[in-house]
Amino acid sequence: MTPAPATPGPVGRDSAPAGPAATAPPTGSAGRPLPAADGYPLSPVTDYYGLFAGVQGEDLEAWQAAHALTEPILARINEAWEAAEYPMDLVRLLADSDLLTDGLDIPGHRRLSPLGAGLVTMEMSRIDGSMGTVVGVQAGLCARSIALLGSQEQKDKWLPALASAEKLGAFALTEPDHGSDSVALETVARREGDHWVITGEKKWIGNGANCDVSVVWARVDDESDPQLHGQVSGFIVEQHLDGYSADLIEGKLSLRAIHQAHIRMDGVRVPLDARLPEARSFKDTGRVLAATRAGVAWGALGHAIACFEIAAQYAKDRTQFGRPLAKSQHVQVRLADMLQTLVGAQLHCFRVAQLDEAGTLTPVQASMAKVHCTRAARSVAAEARDLLGGVGILLENQVIRHMADIEALHTYEGTDTIQSLLVGREIAGVSAFA
Ligand SMILES: Cc1cc2nc3c(=O)[nH]c(=O)nc-3n(C[C@H](O)[C@H](O)[C@H](O)COP(=O)(O)OP(=O)(O)OC[C@H]3O[C@@H](n4cnc5c(N)ncnc54)[C@H](O)[C@@H]3O)c2cc1C
Repeated sequence: MTPAPATPGPVGRDSAPAGPAATAPPTGSAGRPLPAADGYPLSPVTDYYGLFAGVQGEDLEAWQAAHALTEPILARINEAWEAAEYPMDLVRLLADSDLLTDGLDIPGHRRLSPLGAGLVTMEMSRIDGSMGTVVGVQAGLCARSIALLGSQEQKDKWLPALASAEKLGAFALTEPDHGSDSVALETVARREGDHWVITGEKKWIGNGANCDVSVVWARVDDESDPQLHGQVSGFIVEQHLDGYSADLIEGKLSLRAIHQAHIRMDGVRVPLDARLPEARSFKDTGRVLAATRAGVAWGALGHAIACFEIAAQYAKDRTQFGRPLAKSQHVQVRLADMLQTLVGAQLHCFRVAQLDEAGTLTPVQASMAKVHCTRAARSVAAEARDLLGGVGILLENQVIRHMADIEALHTYEGTDTIQSLLVGREIAGVSAFA
């Protein structure tokens, strides 16, 4: 759908003081607002400008379906996070609610607008960052590579299976020696008769181990095709193939409820038609990354919303010096600052969705949104953690999990610095990094 113009909902601000105390829904045991009774997933305070009040149809259905997973995911996630366990039952819940499409057009599934897809990512990250990242990896990166750059046969074979989580997929770009400069990747796909033979290493790959398929980005070695020779292309590599091995990355203190892997490929043979035919250079890889960058901004917004809501509730519940924290001027100013930061991030996301819908979103506009929103989320989470005092570091109160998870968003899909350098290049008219 076309993002609707901002139409504030009937929040009754004339009769009720604008603030968490006046409008917050009932709370869960950890101070978390429960789903709104009217089915609208945000309170009038959290959606302060009513930016998302015009969402309708399949977008609204998907957003509500994501919101409805709040309780079942929260009931399981801290345990999974603490144990660094990837909870497949929760991934299944996402698929059952048709939340693994990220706006892609997959027959038999909801077709979401950029706004609807963004709201789903926001909502999942509002619950938990690992589950938000599942959407980003499975749909945003893996399925999108095939949808944008694959043949019709590849799309028919893989997209329905990925959207239903019948198959779990990865996007394998980053290498041990090439992160920010992934354009210089060293994995090679050498043409040998009717096969490609792939050799190289990939690091940090979500769903890269013990899953089904990886879209592997490799440099083509095929002198019979001068246009493709030396260029980066994408290859659909099934993870059970000989020569493919992957170890889980251990000791991770962010996004602990999704696994990333270090992949080694030693002469993995795939048929010629495993190559994504429209992936002819790194520019095409960039098309996928640019499309998902805004998703990271939406994910960061979800984290910020969660932290703000928990802190606002806690400030009302916690009494010190004989009165609720929320009755202190300093605390109210801090909550107001957090909300202003949050609304700024909402405006970035909303506008990026409008531009995307109009087909005019540039990759660097998405970079700016990613930088702004991850910084906003870090700031709101740090304030929230402090406002909770000592219990702010307890997993049961969630803020510390969000705070840790935001660190991964700050880095993945292009670090804060690299995205800022992309914006800087547009301002200065000259690249400072490549
Ligand atoms: C949890 C997690 C999940 C991930 N999932 C995936 C995935 O599914 N698939 C995938 O392919 N990749 C994935 N990644 C990889 C991610 O995209 C990279 O970590 C990221 O691009 C940064 O690369 P790097 O870690 O090698 O850092 P580096 O590139 O080594 O950067 C280190 C620091 O140097 C800075 N820096 C780099 N170059 C410059 C410069 N020219 N000027 C100034 N500063 C600079 C960076 O901003 C950063 O602060 C994931 C990463 C994480 C942490």
